[in-house]
Amino acid sequence: MDLGISGRWAIVCAASKGLGLACARALAKEGVNLVINARGDEALQAAAVALRNLGVEVRTVAGDISEAAVRAQVLAACPQVDILVNNAGGPPPGDFRDWQREDWLKALDANMLTPIELIKACVDGMAERGFGRIVNITSGAVKAPIDVLGLSNGARSGLTGFIAGLARQARLAGNNVTVNNLLPGPFETERLQKTLSAAAEANGTSVESIAEQRRKHVPAQRFGQPDEFGAYCAFICGAQSGFLTGQNLLLDGGSYPGTF
Ligand code: NAP
Repeated sequence: MDLGISGRWAIVCAASKGLGLACARALAKEGVNLVINARGDEALQAAAVALRNLGVEVRTVAGDISEAAVRAQVLAACPQVDILVNNAGGPPPGDFRDWQREDWLKALDANMLTPIELIKACVDGMAERGFGRIVNITSGAVKAPIDVLGLSNGARSGLTGFIAGLARQARLAGNNVTVNNLLPGPFETERLQKTLSAAAEANGTSVESIAEQRRKHVPAQRFGQPDEFGAYCAFICGAQSGFLTGQNLLLDGGSYPGTF
């Protein structure tokens, strides 16, 4: 299926590894030119080389996307933002009794206010041009909160509530600008590996045994592959997806137990 987005430009945040990189890769395969960002420049440049090999133009901006100056550089690097994929690292786990105001502000900055600021900078231009696709990578924890990830549950739910209202503005939806959230369950990325290693250490067991237990809880009996996530992201960004907006799309191998 030709997604009809060849030659368009996308910003993909937090895209040197994992799900962000997989989204960038899937868009590049569709001929979309890219501005990619991450804090560490070495991995970012390696990602850019691999993406350029797919035949598209790739520009890089190294830095923390939750900083206003970095966002300004990312936006300036993109000739025209047709597609925006919002992503950033998730906040650390813990107990809310230990979190201070600063911890909350950091989580809100990275996982709620940063995507909102980027959307604010792009969305009206998209509406004027009659095409825009915004995808926010959030988490399955928005639908089924995970106790120790309270910072993530809270900040991402704030973003989700905001997006629900924004996506339904006739100025956007009526001008072929869609805004959707992609909610990953467990995907095999560096982040998942770190989570599994921490759990193995805490339980005095091996990483493989923890991974096996986690896999058994997923009806698909496996973790997701980042490229599966990327392909879905590209589809939502496709020309054919203009009627899909304001949705929270869960990719979790059937883990969420509810009917809806
Ligand atoms: P990952 O493998 O650790 O990759 C994270 C990517 O984001 C890296 O390229 C990292 O590069 C970049 N990054 C992190 N913080 C950044 C920041 N402040 N500014 C710019 N770039 C930043 O993580 P992932 O598994 O792909 O996860 C992506 C998102 O999905 C996270 O928010 C995570 O919480 C969420 N999620 C993941 C899963 C899963 O199973 N994988 C499940 C639910 C939710 P640098 O470190 O060099 O900046």
